[in-house]
Amino acid sequence: APGPTLDPDLLHDGILAGNRAMLARAITLVESRKREHRDLARQLLTRLMPHTGRAHRVGITGVPGVGKSTTIDTLGSNLTAAGHRVAVLAVDPSSTRTGGSILGDKTRMAQLAVDPRAFIRPSPSAGTLGGVAAKTRETMLLCEAAGFDVILVETVGIGQSETTVAEMVDFFLVLMLPGAGDELQGIKKGVLEIADLIAVNKADGEGAMRARAAASDYRSALHILSPRSPTWSPPVVTISGLANEGLDAMWAQVELHRAKMQATGEWGERRAGQQVAWMWDMLQQRLMEALTRDPDRAARIRTFESEVRAGRVPASVAVEDIAELMGL
Ligand code: GDP
Repeated sequence: APGPTLDPDLLHDGILAGNRAMLARAITLVESRKREHRDLARQLLTRLMPHTGRAHRVGITGVPGVGKSTTIDTLGSNLTAAGHRVAVLAVDPSSTRTGGSILGDKTRMAQLAVDPRAFIRPSPSAGTLGGVAAKTRETMLLCEAAGFDVILVETVGIGQSETTVAEMVDFFLVLMLPGAGDELQGIKKGVLEIADLIAVNKADGEGAMRARAAASDYRSALHILSPRSPTWSPPVVTISGLANEGLDAMWAQVELHRAKMQATGEWGERRAGQQVAWMWDMLQQRLMEALTRDPDRAARIRTFESEVRAGRVPASVAVEDIAELMGL
């Protein structure tokens, strides 16, 4: 039987009251691999659902060293000073809690870490991107129920994680380094396509000129892409996360985007689309789990896999046989 600390009523009421210890405990349930914990987490999320969805969800990406944690620390502190409650979550499928997460280290956000109006949660420890993302989405809902009205989701620009985060937020902010030309060539075109705003960071001191030059290059690069929304052409700004310069103007753009998207109805459409995509995502994961839960079946599937690998059985034939094994 769950101990008193896992009592769903206590957790539910605690979270709604904004109790951080209860929030942290609920997130641990969401992240747990234990079946009974997952069940409890699902019940809790269902009950909390009416209290979710009110936060402004913003994704932030950029290569390591671009200044994500510095900028989030400063931006987040500006926001709490303006009366917001800010949760910072991270999506990093390569991280392990014990191995020292590249994103999770709270000391990298020294101001926010001690800010009573902020909550920082490192990435769920290593797993598939899909698994990490599912936990982060649920954690986001828990934070919203606990009264956080700005959720910043940080991710490193590695592989698919940017797209995955872009699909769980209302606004996707891409941080870039000053210094254009060569670097611009190296940027994956994909990230420009999903950006709602590009901020060239480190626009201070000697970097200021180079940052402005880079910004102008990114503006030209964006110009030739067709924007994702007829309502929003992604702006390019220069900021200094370190010196707290340009961050207010940048956030004004984030809020302007929300106002415009709400006016056209695109805001709600994007959210609804994300919910449905999320459902299919989770269903797919559940089916995959179900597929291999039975050890005998898992062993037979592995046999198919080696036959396919050895070129003895065509993949399409193996899939048909596995489907039959599942009674499909
Ligand atoms: P992250 O890996 O993207 O989280 O980057 P960090 O926030 O850890 O920053 C990497 C390095 O860049 C650190 O030494 C920061 O002090 C420095 N840095 C971050 N933002 C700025 C900025 O706006 N201006 C300058 N000059 N340095 C910065």
